[in-house]
Amino acid sequence: MRLIRPLPVLLPPLPDELLSSWLGRHATFYRVSGGRLLRHCGVDAGSMRSIDLALSAHDQRQIARTFRTDPQALRRMTQSRGRRRPAGLIATDRPMQVCRRCVIRHDATPETRGARLRSWMEGWRVSCPVCGARLDDCRPMNMLNRANPADPLLARVAEHAAEGEMILEEAVRRNPQDGSAITLMRSLLLPRAHPWQASPTADIPRLLNVVITGFDDFLRDTSPGFRRPGTLLLPMSVRIPVLAGVARVVRRPSHWTERLLPAVGDSARPALAGCLRALGES
Ligand SMILES: [Zn+2]
Repeated sequence: MRLIRPLPVLLPPLPDELLSSWLGRHATFYRVSGGRLLRHCGVDAGSMRSIDLALSAHDQRQIARTFRTDPQALRRMTQSRGRRRPAGLIATDRPMQVCRRCVIRHDATPETRGARLRSWMEGWRVSCPVCGARLDDCRPMNMLNRANPADPLLARVAEHAAEGEMILEEAVRRNPQDGSAITLMRSLLLPRAHPWQASPTADIPRLLNVVITGFDDFLRDTSPGFRRPGTLLLPMSVRIPVLAGVARVVRRPSHWTERLLPAVGDSARPALAGCLRALGES
């Protein structure tokens, strides 16, 4: 084992801060590169971000010694919180949303400037778990159709979206591999099997329109190019109604089972039926 020289000065971690962000702030404080700090710790990880995504037991020990910190506390700052990551719901590269209120607060002090929070990489968030403010999409692609909180549909579903966020948070915390709520989130954006039920001007009639009336028109107006999501890291303007849909369905699974199953295509029906059954039992 390599001898570790503990760092003399430690900066306290911020609430909800990513481990990589905390380490990065120390690198800035000590005026060294992130790579140099990692080498000083004697870790195997090749990059800061890989530490958030998959912290090995070896690296956890090395960092704990260098930073004279409880290894479990370090683990809790990672993206997986010690378990497997929830599939499809964690950005792997850079934050996709930010809390502007927290950014301003961090920027006010040199030691906290540039900090990144875990919630900024999580695809089920619509609000900041630290201060409660609305999160803003910061991905260049989504800046154009940024969620406008005054939009009538977004205002109408805001309360249910917050409830959906809590449902996903709880599901991810309890068991990231039990994907019922995640499957539902994904399924609600599927095309409806009977497009003639759609608003005549809708691009693609979506299942979510059954639960959130007006969603098809909203999507056409706000995100005209939106086709297949391909990812669960949805633009905020789409994520808000999807989470609201999740909350409504989870409240009354049997009510929505009768309405959703006939509306979805044959190939998607078994997965949706399975997740609605699981949600009804939980
Ligand atoms: Zn905040």
